[in-house]
Parts: sequence; C-alpha cells; structure tokens
Amino acid sequence: KRSTREWQQADAAHFLHPFTDFGALAKKGSRIITKAEGIYLWDSEGKKILDAMSGLWCVNVGYGQNSLVEAATRQMKELPFYNAFFQTATPPAIELAELLAEVTPPNFQHVFFAGSGSEGNDTVVRMVRRYWDILGQPERKVIISRKNGYHGSTMAGASLGGMSYMHAQGGLPIPDITHIDQPYWHEHGHGMDKAEFGKVAASWLEKRILEVGADKVAAFIGEPVQGAGGVIVPPATYWPEIQRICDKYGVLIVSDEVICGFGRTGNWFGCETQGFKPDLMTFAKGVTSGYIPLGGVMVGDRMAKVLIEQGGDFNHGYTYSGHPVASAVAVANIKLIQQLKLVEHVRDDVGPYLAQQFASLKDHPLVGDTETCGLMGAILLVKDKAKNTAFPAEIDIGMVCRGHCFGNGLIMRAVGDRMIIAPPLVMNRAQMDEMMSLIRRCLDLTLADATR
Ligand code: PLP
Repeated sequence: KRSTREWQQADAAHFLHPFTDFGALAKKGSRIITKAEGIYLWDSEGKKILDAMSGLWCVNVGYGQNSLVEAATRQMKELPFYNAFFQTATPPAIELAELLAEVTPPNFQHVFFAGSGSEGNDTVVRMVRRYWDILGQPERKVIISRKNGYHGSTMAGASLGGMSYMHAQGGLPIPDITHIDQPYWHEHGHGMDKAEFGKVAASWLEKRILEVGADKVAAFIGEPVQGAGGVIVPPATYWPEIQRICDKYGVLIVSDEVICGFGRTGNWFGCETQGFKPDLMTFAKGVTSGYIPLGGVMVGDRMAKVLIEQGGDFNHGYTYSGHPVASAVAVANIKLIQQLKLVEHVRDDVGPYLAQQFASLKDHPLVGDTETCGLMGAILLVKDKAKNTAFPAEIDIGMVCRGHCFGNGLIMRAVGDRMIIAPPLVMNRAQMDEMMSLIRRCLDLTLADATR
C-alpha cells in the first residue's frame, strides 16, 4: 500500500487535473480520497470528511449503494458492451429510455444518450439546428445562453457556457452563440423588488431576440438554478416570463438539468420547480448518481415528432450512447430514488429544513445573504453587512473559507464570494445539523482571519 506522499508524487508526475493550475497543484500535492460511505468520504490519512458537494453535484443517492454495484456487476458479466449504431439496442438501454419517459414531465417520451453532460449539450446544439433545417428555416441557428452559466467543457459546451475565463482559452465561443446577463439579484438587482427583478432579467432575453432577429434564434438554454455559477436561484417570476417570451417568438427552450435533475430541487426536474416547460432537457450526473458516466438529452414531443417523421438520418452519436452497463446502473439508481422516496424527502423534509437552517446563518457577521432551492444552497460572504460591501478580490475570501472547510472535515465549494453546497439527497436532519455546525465553525474561523 502506498503512502500519501507516494500517491501525491505519482499524481504530480502524470495526472493533469481538470480546471487546475497544474504547476501549483504539483507543488502543493493533491488530497487523496480513498473511500466513501453514505455522505462521508475518507482520505488517505484516514480523515473523515462530510461531503456537502455530493462529489461534483452527482452522488444523489449517497455512496455505497449496493443495488447500483450489483447492477453493474451483473451487466458486465452478461454483456459489457454493445453499440446502438447498427439498428441494435440492449435491454438496459431500452429499459432506461422507458424509465426516463416515466419520471420526466409528460411531454418527454424520447431520449438521445451520450456519455456526459458536455456531450449532451453538444447534442443539443446539433439537434436544435437540425430541427430548424428540417422545418426549412436553416437561418434559425443562434442559441442564446447566459453569462456565468455552465454547460460543459467541450467546444460547444464551453461556448454555451458563459464563463469568460473559459472563453479566453481556445478562442470561444463558436459562432452563433450569444449570452445575456444572469438573473443574479445581488449583481443586477439594484435594490429592486425580487419579483419585479425576475421579469426585468427575463426581458433581457426578449431584447436579445429582437437584436438578433427572431427568425434567426433557434433556442434559449439555461440551468433552472445556476449551479457552478454559484447556486444562483432566480426569482420565481423569471422562468415563467422566459417561457412566455420563447413562446411568443417560437424559440425552443433547453433546460440544462445536469445538476438540477433527479430530485436535487425537490422535484424530479428543476424545470418543474421553476415552473416552465422545456423542449429539450440535458441530463447527466444524478442519472447514475455519478457511479458511472452517462448523460443525454430528453427530447420533447414537439421536436421528436419532426425528427422522427421528417428527419431522415441524424448524423450524430457516441460509441457509448446507450452503454449497457451505464444504463443498468442508471436504472438501478432511478429505482432507488423512487424506492427511498428521495424526491419527496427533499421537497417535504430536508429541503425546507435546509432553507430554515440557511436563513438562520444570516445572523452571522460574515453572511450577507443565503439562498437555497431543494438541496442546493449558497452563502454570500460580505465584508460589511450594514453597507453590503464585498471583500477585495485579493483576499479571496471564498478560498479562505474553503481552506477552513478542508481542515475541519467538510467539503464546501467556493465560487468567488459565494460558498455553495449540494449534499447527497439521502442526508437526514441529524446529518444536516452536523453539517450546519461545521459550516458555522468554518465561518467563525474565516471571520477571525478576515478581521485579523
Ligand atoms: N451542465 C451543467 C449544468 C453542469 O453543471 C455540468 C457539469 O458540472 C455540465 C453541463 C457538464 O457535464 P460533464 O462534466 O458531465 O460533461
């Protein structure tokens, strides 16, 4: 068995980590995560860590669920791989397609499988353009997305995403993708009433549609609740107004459900929580609770009818579209979510409890605001509550807080001055109390640093 130091040396010598300063990490050394159970991880030093990020927003059913392991083992032995290109299909992929049609909103009866959320969103770009081509409107190819949104790391995924630091590397976005501002009240609200602000933020979409020309706009894409952007929960008025605008101009709506899907927001899908009816839904992560890679796109009836009845060949797909082992794990995962009633657990029990616990954090001198939606939450750290002033960028307050979390056995992520969580949906109230006391301790330690 290798020591932590030996793992770190081998890691630094060969492994280029995603979204990482390679040189800095090589000097510092990775934290080596070796096992997990329920909502906890252990590192190579034997330290127990409460995983308030569900891995990377994905381990919805928690770690160590045997039914998923058994599904994978059974399928690996029986048929580890077969493709879906040769007018062929495997039972697990068919069963998963059927189950997805059952748990998604009623207008979704079809699915296109991919291997990840990024591949799902690449599929979206090609599929919406194909749809308008078939309808004889090939000039409708512009996709409107949002600044600070995250839709993946492939060329199309990173272009749809609105992270300027990603666009700066690799000459993005690709053509015909344009971004509007996000519905972030603390940045753009200027003291406005939140319900009013939701409508104002949605009106930026109409403005952009008219600038581009409605006959050139193919689709609007957004996360129901922006995740990687910092858990930005839009006012309840935002999405219904987006829906009204898209309907008015015949623009397709794509809901990126990669984080919000499979119970995270207290419904099966985030669009149900936020009150809109998309034409496409991208999913990944929670579909297998991250036990194995799988993603895809749910295709609503409006588009499916055209693609199936008039489309001809759709020249797109991945070796792993409908992978039998990944599909078998997804089926076991969805059945477990149903059996454990995790959607109801989030909606009626731990979701409201988290909202209450996060609201109580507003008493803390460092906390300017908190927001939650189901089991996603954000804590905004401010320098001066009374004046609502931010910390100067050079202090990087989020990273200071994240450091204390790491040191105290808690994984919480920092996005600028927002600390964010998305714990496993299996978390119970006692575990949430434990998480909250760790969060309070880390906020106190961060405050001590900030006032030193
Ligand atoms: N879309 C959203 C909303 C995401 O949060 C992510 C990943 O975090 C993706 C797409 C990309 O998914 P993947 O990393 O599986 O390619």
